[in-house]
Amino acid sequence: MATVVFFHAHPDDEALSTGGTMALMAEAGHRVILVVATRGEEGEPVEGILKDGEKLEDRRSLETEQSGKILGVSRVEFLGYRDSGMIDSSTTAHPECFWQADESAAVSRLTNILKDEKVDLIVVYDPNGGYGHPDHIQVHRVGTKWAEENGVRLRWVTLNRDAIRRVVEEAIKANIEAGQELDSDLAKREERSSDESFGMAESDITHAIDVVSVLDQKRQAVATHASQIASDSFFVTLGNEEYSRAFGKEWYVDPNFPRGTEELLRTDLLLN
Ligand SMILES: [Zn+2]
Repeated sequence: MATVVFFHAHPDDEALSTGGTMALMAEAGHRVILVVATRGEEGEPVEGILKDGEKLEDRRSLETEQSGKILGVSRVEFLGYRDSGMIDSSTTAHPECFWQADESAAVSRLTNILKDEKVDLIVVYDPNGGYGHPDHIQVHRVGTKWAEENGVRLRWVTLNRDAIRRVVEEAIKANIEAGQELDSDLAKREERSSDESFGMAESDITHAIDVVSVLDQKRQAVATHASQIASDSFFVTLGNEEYSRAFGKEWYVDPNFPRGTEELLRTDLLLN
């Protein structure tokens, strides 16, 4: 059995982006470890959700523990940095935020957390952090350095830009066929999925993990992050069929073993 580390930036990233893969690996008997760089201090809490005097980061830490339980995670750890917030905000200058972290000091913290583990594989984000969030980019840098220093195999979780565009284009087509005016949200999503800094092209992706069999667990883990994801959000209310079309696959890249042009997407994250 393998030990796999999922290194994430904020509480809820684990459930939204890799929750299905984590649940599948735990179900198969692997040791799944979650390390989260920050406690999500800069998140926007759902209105009225925090008790008097309750700090958002404390609530989000509890939500992460709970999400980990649902997904079958063996260990949940925090790296101890502060959420950097969005790239154009002043919070990225906070001395304790992850974006300001000294890279080798952050690598040492990770080494310390994992010193008694025999890690086979670590999952980080792609070089642009999926969509450019500074803490996600930093997870990529720190996790990659740690993997190199420790001779551990690496995977990047990413967004499949082409798959997202196909879903959006289908929705636009249905929109037009129904004689409706084009949904502005769809137009925005189409534009985003054509942007080369958003996720990665399908041809660069090596692994597609089908998580439909554990979709309930993934949905429950996402819903546990109730301070961020309102109970009327589409992540919670979407029908099962639509949900599995949108979130039934999780996409990864093995940067050291690119996929050949004739090769199919690999379906087991541990396979090179
Ligand atoms: Zn995040």
